[in-house]
Amino acid sequence: MKVPIAELQSLVEQVLAHHGVAPARAPLLAATIVAAERDGSRSHGLQRLAGYVSSLLCGWVNGAAEPVVHEPGPGLLKVDARNGFAQVALAEAAPRLCAMAARHGSATLTTANGHHFAALWPDIEPLAAEGYIALTMVNTRARMVVWQGTRKVLGTNPMAFACPRKSAPPVVWDQASSVMSQGDVLLASAARRPLPEGVGVDAAGTATTDPDTVLKDGALLPYGGIKGGSLAFMIEVLATLGGARFGFEDESGKIPGAVTSNAGQFLLLIDPRRFGDGFLDRIEALIEQLRDAGTGRLPGDLRYERRRIAERDGIDVSPEVHAYLKRKGQRVSAA
Ligand code: NDP
Repeated sequence: MKVPIAELQSLVEQVLAHHGVAPARAPLLAATIVAAERDGSRSHGLQRLAGYVSSLLCGWVNGAAEPVVHEPGPGLLKVDARNGFAQVALAEAAPRLCAMAARHGSATLTTANGHHFAALWPDIEPLAAEGYIALTMVNTRARMVVWQGTRKVLGTNPMAFACPRKSAPPVVWDQASSVMSQGDVLLASAARRPLPEGVGVDAAGTATTDPDTVLKDGALLPYGGIKGGSLAFMIEVLATLGGARFGFEDESGKIPGAVTSNAGQFLLLIDPRRFGDGFLDRIEALIEQLRDAGTGRLPGDLRYERRRIAERDGIDVSPEVHAYLKRKGQRVSAA
């Protein structure tokens, strides 16, 4: 069934608010989930809602946490998410971060003690729409084996980059360090679909295409072999700069119901206007060369197209998921 975006937003908000997310914060968190579903990033859309609910119900994450923002030095923000969601921490710090980047040319944020369970692009697309270049990274609980290792130490650590354009939406790419994100492995498991070769291994380190084996006690592999492992390592270092836990220190695996990771986020914001004139024209010239060389789809283009269609037609939601949303948000509606 097709559900209008605003209706889906309201349903997800109610589910979150009913399960402990502060009513003032539920719209923001719901918006990242709905945006992912709207734009076709289904690995981090509605599929994730049960994980948010479960982590909230078991007390692993505090939906009412109020983040604390410190300024340890010029151009630096250090945020303690206080065991709440990373998006709330970023929203709290974003106005100061933008003001700093506008003043100094760049600003760096690190968040510790936060849970990021979503796609990264919703964090930075709005910043690039304001004219900033943004780079963000998140570490997650250990899920990958890298550099000939046999034990999971690093997470599927995603990174996203957003570049403003002159009169078009920003170019935004967003990718996990693993060949396939955990969310896509979950989707394959739900659809009883084998994984492509080279995505994961079993507990003994033997290649497997069975998503359930990978999820149970296997591991994911970095994309690009050694090089993906190197990126995951860099992300682990930068995302934990503010004192966040490393992926191997995350204790969610020990707590029944805990699905999200308590980890860190890094965000670098650059104001290209402070480096002189002509940046946007140069980016257009670069994109023109890429187009001329045969590039059709830029990262983000497909999402923007799916967004356009969803805004017109609504978002496809299965009757089962719609019933789940109604059921889980019921008591709030009645209150
Ligand atoms: P994908 O492999 O689906 O996509 C990676 C990037 O490549 C996207 O920016 C995508 O653009 C772009 N792209 C894909 N195909 C093309 C193409 N043909 N031409 C041009 N660009 C293309 O991403 P992943 O599976 O690696 O990651 C999925 C999501 O998982 C991400 O949003 C990531 O943030 C999230 N994630 C979150 C974690 C967390 O802890 N919060 C952990 C790990 C992952 P487009 O967007 O337009 O499709």
